[in-house]
Formats: sequence, structure tokens, C-alpha cells
Amino acid sequence: MIELIWCFIAVLILSALFILGCFIYCISYPTRNPIDKQVKRLTICTFLTVGSYAAAIVLQNEKLSLFTFGVFHFLVDTVMFLMLDFVRRFTGIPERKPREKQYLLAAIGIDALLLLINLFVRVMFRVETLYYGKLVHRVADRGIAYYYHLLLVYFMAMVIMAVLARKIISSPRIYKVKYSCILGVMFITLCSHALYMNRSLKFDYSVIFYPVLAFMVCFFSLVYIPRGLLESLLFFTIAGMKDGIICMDIDGRCVYANNTARSFCENGNDLGVIEKQVQTWLEEQEINDSIEKKQWESQRKISGSDHYYNISFQKIYDKGMNYLGCFFFIHDRTDEYSKLEAERYRASHDLLTDIPNRDDFYSRTRARIDADSDRTYFMVCADVKSFKIINDVFGVDAGDRLLKRLAQITKNLAGDKCEYGRLTGDRFVMCMPTERFNEEHILRQYSTVSGFLDEYSKGDELTKGTFKVHVHIGVYEITDRNLRISVMCDRACLAIKSIKDSYENIVAYYDNRMRENYMNEQKVIAEFDEALLGGQFAVYIQPQVGVDGGIRGGEALVRWVHPREGKIPPSLFIPILEHTGLICRLDLHIWETACRILSSWRAAGKTAYYLAVNISQKDFCMIDVYGIITGLCRKYAIPPSSLHLEITETAIMDQPDSQLRLIERFRQAGFIIEIDDFGSGYSSLNTLKDMTVDVLKIDMGFLSETGNKERSRTILKMVIALAKTLRLEVITEGVEDKEQVDYLTEYGCDIFQGYYFAKPMPADEFEKNYLGRRFNM
Ligand code: C2E
Ligand code: CA
Ligand code: CA
Repeated sequence: MIELIWCFIAVLILSALFILGCFIYCISYPTRNPIDKQVKRLTICTFLTVGSYAAAIVLQNEKLSLFTFGVFHFLVDTVMFLMLDFVRRFTGIPERKPREKQYLLAAIGIDALLLLINLFVRVMFRVETLYYGKLVHRVADRGIAYYYHLLLVYFMAMVIMAVLARKIISSPRIYKVKYSCILGVMFITLCSHALYMNRSLKFDYSVIFYPVLAFMVCFFSLVYIPRGLLESLLFFTIAGMKDGIICMDIDGRCVYANNTARSFCENGNDLGVIEKQVQTWLEEQEINDSIEKKQWESQRKISGSDHYYNISFQKIYDKGMNYLGCFFFIHDRTDEYSKLEAERYRASHDLLTDIPNRDDFYSRTRARIDADSDRTYFMVCADVKSFKIINDVFGVDAGDRLLKRLAQITKNLAGDKCEYGRLTGDRFVMCMPTERFNEEHILRQYSTVSGFLDEYSKGDELTKGTFKVHVHIGVYEITDRNLRISVMCDRACLAIKSIKDSYENIVAYYDNRMRENYMNEQKVIAEFDEALLGGQFAVYIQPQVGVDGGIRGGEALVRWVHPREGKIPPSLFIPILEHTGLICRLDLHIWETACRILSSWRAAGKTAYYLAVNISQKDFCMIDVYGIITGLCRKYAIPPSSLHLEITETAIMDQPDSQLRLIERFRQAGFIIEIDDFGSGYSSLNTLKDMTVDVLKIDMGFLSETGNKERSRTILKMVIALAKTLRLEVITEGVEDKEQVDYLTEYGCDIFQGYYFAKPMPADEFEKNYLGRRFNM
């Protein structure tokens, strides 16, 4: 008997420690849910309950023991109250009666009061001292008030069990376990307590079930995840997955195949069919025992359309790495595939015209040329003349439609034996095997767009048919196959450049000269700035000689004195500078130098001589020629009459109205205007009709007597006579021999310029050797 009581006390102490362990686990557990807090409260309270009961028994002082039993009873109330609170939240079943908690708290309050009174007047129980080797205490002589306590505790226990029972009935099977376990422990605890009361046992053995209860509460609310839930989750997700899953056991039997996998294998509802399919895969993919996982692609036709799959195989092991079976994962990537295809198409095709874009053309052409080394090819570029103007005048819509039409023509011309694409805005390109290249055919096809814009002239009979679309074709015969495709295209485009001013549908072929020109052009542009700032552009002067042999003045002509290449003649860079607009900056420099020279002459008292400067057509469009030139005259204090302005007739005819007004302003200001290269343009005589100028400078072409000598002299004679009638002074340039001087003098020419007298020379040489000199005529 001695052992039993001490064993019981030992069990109580162990129980208390166990509950304390549960509590420590709870507080180390991250709080995720409000229920976690309740669990913690409940566990610590249970620990105190068990602890206080053990203490009350073993305390040696009777009074202290009485007090501790009181505390124990109060803690039992609290545990029940907290348990009820926990169960309500745990089950999700709220209090039916409003203010249930308040009533209970009030009832517990009364119980506590009774327990307090019991310390002084034994209204509830008294403590009996027993002796088992040492003194122990137990509750005895329960009074009527004790039954109030019992009633309260049993009531709360009943409510807890009722709530749990209700939840058990209404929950799915997988959840019943947790509620049932807690209910079971509650029931056993209650029964053992009832037994203790009924049989008037010495000690309340039901307390040893408290740790079980605490454990259940902790476990089910914090740790436990219903296994069935996970299984169902897996089942539902796998069954409803868009990807197919086939699971095979160790003997090669199919244990599971979801719907997708079943529909993948024809008649897949029969697991035998799936097993056969798996067998085929294993053989085809040579999957043997040593292979852990493998992935491959597969394609099959389903109701007429292609489907693409990714299939993977993987072995399954348990925790001890024992082989359990394997599974196959079938991923249908048809959608991804078509999306990828669409993306690839978008990336490789031009959005507007729907033909391959430049990059795609480059890579295809590269592959084609590399693949067939025996075949020779032509790179053919088509370009619309003045496409920007078409866009501007007829609208972007018309421009777009034209491009689409050209794309179609390019595509048809290319067929499936050539590569083709859209290079840039209005440029299309084809790479054709030599035997397919037919210049005439290509031209004819592109010519069909000639009248494309007629319908955009909106029935306006005047404009209708006036704007023809011209397509220029540039061809590069691919002689160097190792060139980058982009360079080959550049070469074909360079050929177009050489015909860009032509108003016809024509073809130009690339040759190396074009390349040199192009390179030269790039070089001039690149070096221009440095040359201008570095003073590499010098003014040379070519004398102009009167009929009496006296020097009248000279023409200022630019020379590029290049540090490495020496003296470069204007013909090699002026056209490039004109084309790029850089000429304005050069002319400004030449004009200013000419003015400076004139002012130095004046300072030396040589006031009778003039200098003629050239004004390019571009100058008129890009800078304020009048403002600049008059400004320079002011700056260098030279009279306008000493500066002759050479303007070509083409420059005048470009914008006759404004040019004529400008010429008039210059003349009013006192400048001498010369029409340069007269006779080289188309409308020479016409020009004379409208304009009042001072000097006619006859183009040197008149002096070259190829063909009919008599005829050209007659024309020259007539032109000079005409100029005289209009009271114009006449200069002839390009005079190279005495004979020319003689007949020109006879015809009435006033001034000569040419190698016969002198070539253009540096300004100081001119000043030293020619100013004031007289030639023998
Ligand atoms: P241009 O204005 O017609 O100049 C006359 C050209 O004929 C000069 O060529 C001159 O050297 C050349 N020449 C003179 N006498 C004879 C001769 O007896 N026989 C032959 N075969 N040629 C002769 P240059 O200096 O090479 O200039 C060529 C063109 O470059 C000029 O033609 C002019 O249009 C342009 N140019 C020259 N300097 C300038 C300039 O400073 N500004 C602008 N805008 N253009 C310039
Ligand atoms: Ca000139
Ligand atoms: Ca000239």
C-alpha cells in the first residue's frame, strides 16, 4: 500500500513534467492561429492543476494542504472553462446561449468564494491526514457546498463533450479522428472521476488523464494533419491535372493513370493498354535499371491536328531508398508550342507586310548560301524612289498599301527557290540563284505598281497619272560568299544610290568603283570638320584676262591641301559636300577668305581688281546668302562691286521666283552677278529671258570641238551675240590656246579664263605675279 501511494505521486509529478514539456513545445511553436494561444493557456493551467494536486497531497502542513486543495479545485474549474473555450474554437461551433461565458465565469467566481470560505469554515471539504511512512493529505468529509463545485465541473465537461460529439457527427471521416480522440479522453477522465466519487476512493486518479488530455489538445491542434486530407488533395489534383500521370509498380503493373494519361493512350481506360504504351516507351527510350530519370519529346496526331508532348520518366523510392516503382509524366505542350511558333513568326516577320524581316532574311540567306557551295547567287534590292514624298502627299495609308503590294511582288518573284524579305522602310530584298535571275522579268513585275497611286488622286483629273511610282533595282552578284549578308545587301543598295535621281524603273549593278566612291564619300565626310578647322582648305585664284591682255581679277577656287594626300581637286569633294549640305560651311570659309584677300589688296592700293566666288545651289536653301555676303563686305570694308558672285543657271532655275528676287537684291546692293556654266543646263536661253544679270560665263563645253566644229562655233557666236544684245558682259572659261582667244575676241567675248593664261594658283602667287600684269594678245 505504501508503494502505491508513492507511485501515484510519482506519476503525478511525471505528468506535471510531461505537461510542462507540452507547454514548452507550444511556446517554441510559431503562433499562426488564435487557437495556438488558447492551447498554451490550457496547457499551463493543466500543468498547474496536476502540480497543485500533487503538492496538496504531499504537503506536511494541514492548513497549507487545505489551501492547496482549494487552489486545485479552482484550477479544475479554470481548466474546464478554458477547455470549453478551446473546444468552441476548435470545432467552430459557437456558444448557443449568449453570454455563456459570463454566466460560467460568475459560477466559477461563486465556487472560488466557497473554496475561500472553506479555509475558515469547512463548508466544502476538510483535509484528512494519513500516514504512509510520511504524512499525506486527502480530501474528505465533503459538505453540501462541494456538490456545487462538482455540478459546475460536470456541467462544463458535459457541454464540452456535447460540442465535440456534435462536431463528430457533422464532420467528414478524416476529421472525426481528432474530435473523437479528445472526446474519448474527456470521457475516460470523467468516468474515472465519477468512480473516485462513487467508490469514495482515497485519491482522485482521474488527474493522471490530464497529461493525456493536454497532449491530445496540443497534438491535434498544432501538429496533426489528417492523412486522408493529403491523400484526397493529391488525388484531386492529380486526377484533375492537365498533365498526364501514370504510376507503375515494381512488377510493371499500372497502378494509377489519371484522366489525361488515359486520354493520351488510345483506349486508355483499359490499364493493359497503358501498360503496353509504357513498355513501348521503355524500349524506345532504352530505359533500363540504371536509368533514374529521363525526358523526351513526342508528337502525335489527335483528330487531325498535331500535338506535342514532353514525357518524363522517374523512379520512386521510399525513405530507405528502396525502389517502389516509377511514374511517367506527360506534359502536353501543344499550346506552348503554337505560342512559341507564333512568337517566332512575329519575331521573324515584318508586321506590316507579313514577309520575313531583315534579320530573318539575313540568317536564312546565310544558311542557303552556305548549304550549297556550287551555286552562285545574285543579291537583288528594290527601292521606291521618293517614298517619303509618297507618304507625305498621299498619306501613310497609301504608303502602307504600296509597301504591301511590293512585298507581294517580291514574294512572288522569289518563289520558294529564293530568300526574300523587307530590309527597311521601302526596301525589299531577294537572294536569287543565278539561273533564276532575270532582270527584265524583275523590272516588269515591279513596274506594275507604276500607276498604283492613281486611285489616291481622288478623281482629280489633273493629278491623276502625274505621280508614277518608280522602283529602282540594285543588284550585287555575290562574288565573295564570305561577306556578311548585310554587306551584300549594302552593295546592292549602293548600286541603287548610283541611279537614285533617275525617273525610270531601272537596274544598276554593283561594281567595285561604287564601293570606292562610297568609301571616299565616307572619308570626306569624316575628315571634313578637322580639315576645315585645320585650315586645309586653301583659296586658289585663276586669273580672268580682258581682251586687252590686262588682268581684271580672278576666280576663287578651293583646293583641299591634305596633309597626307596633297592637293585634292574640288571635283573629288565638292559634289559630296553638296550632297551632304556641308558645302555651306566650306563656302562660308571661301567667301570670307576671298573678302580678306580683297581687303588686303585694297590696303596695298590695288583696288581695281575683283574676285569671283562660287555660290552653290545648296547655299541658297540652307543659309542666308544675302545676309552673310553683305555682312562680310561690311566686315572687311570692301565694295560689293569687287566681289563677283557666280551662280549656276541650274541653281537659279531650281526656284526661279525667289532666286530672281534675290539676284535683284544683290544687284541693287552693287554686287556683280555672273551666270556660271552657261549652256551646260537645259534652259539656258529661257533663263536669259527673265533675269537681269551682269555677266554670262560661258561653259567650257562650248570650246571642246568634238563633232561638228563649224556648228559649235556658230552656236558660240550666236550666244555671245545674244548676250551682247542683252548688254551682258561675256566671260569664256576653259580657254586653252591662242586660236580660241582669237575667234572668241572676234565674236565679242570680253574676258578670258583658262590654262592658256594660267592655272589656278595660290593667292599670294597670284598677287605677286599676276596683279598688274598684262598678257600679249
Ligand atoms: P567652275 O566654277 O566651273 O570652275 C572652273 C573650273 O575649270 C575650275 O576647276 C578650273 O580649274 C577649271 N579650268 C579653268 N581653266 C581651264 C582650262 O583651260 N581647261 C580646263 N580643262 N579646265 C579649266 P576646279 O577648280 O577643279 O573646280 C571645279 C568646280 O568645283 C568649279 O567649277 C566649281 O563648280 C566647283 N568649285 C570650286 N571651288 C568652289 C568653291 O569654293 N565653292 C563652290 N561652291 N564650288 C567650287
Ligand atoms: Ca565658277
Ligand atoms: Ca564654270
